[in-house]
Amino acid sequence: MKKKRKYILLMLFILAFSIINIKYFQELIPTYKDRNRWEKTGKIIWEVPTSHKLIALTFDDGPSPTFTPQIIDLLKRYKAKATFFVTGKQAEKFPHIVKATASQGHSIGNHMYQHQLISKLSLQALIDDLSHAHKVIMDTTGTEPHFFRPPDGYYDETIVKAAEALKYQVVIWTWTQDTRDWSGISGAEIADKVITNAKPGDIILLHDQGGDRSNTVEALELLLPALTEEGYNFVTLDELVKVK
Ligand SMILES: [Zn+2]
Repeated sequence: MKKKRKYILLMLFILAFSIINIKYFQELIPTYKDRNRWEKTGKIIWEVPTSHKLIALTFDDGPSPTFTPQIIDLLKRYKAKATFFVTGKQAEKFPHIVKATASQGHSIGNHMYQHQLISKLSLQALIDDLSHAHKVIMDTTGTEPHFFRPPDGYYDETIVKAAEALKYQVVIWTWTQDTRDWSGISGAEIADKVITNAKPGDIILLHDQGGDRSNTVEALELLLPALTEEGYNFVTLDELVKVK
């Protein structure tokens, strides 16, 4: 009897500990916060529920004069389209790369003018920064961007309001497809993760700027042929959101 009571106490302790941990985890990682609520409104998307074998590759923080052209060449080789979430600041420095990217049929998304900590910004500051990037992208490509990826995948009420004010759709990424390609892992590891987790409608997070991105290029060299072989097509976010 005593043993049983001890066991129950231990189980209760583990349960309480897990609940506290999940709460802490949700607070710590913004991509987990209130997902259900936001996803129902359609104001933020993480992936697109579909049975069609379509995948949206997304590249953040660019353009990079070194890595973006390499990535575009690779995508062309595999007839793949992708979405590039550029920052206004980088786009202003390398407009010819943004132009070349858009002219190959890829989508250009807004990743703000300054890549900054956005959790403390006021609504007006957010709108100003987003508008600044919007103008740079418009002036460079002649096309209106309408996807917004908040830096670090952070979102809350204010972020959604700012996006709505400028008619943007907020896009995060499929939880299992956060490649962490910036963390120093090899191209093979990145590719392995993407290939293993791949499912129709996935939105994959990669980076073409912010350090040595040769591992990201290597990963693409592996994952593009592997997933093509599995029957997947790589499309822009514009195309993916249209398919249900
Ligand atoms: Zn970023």
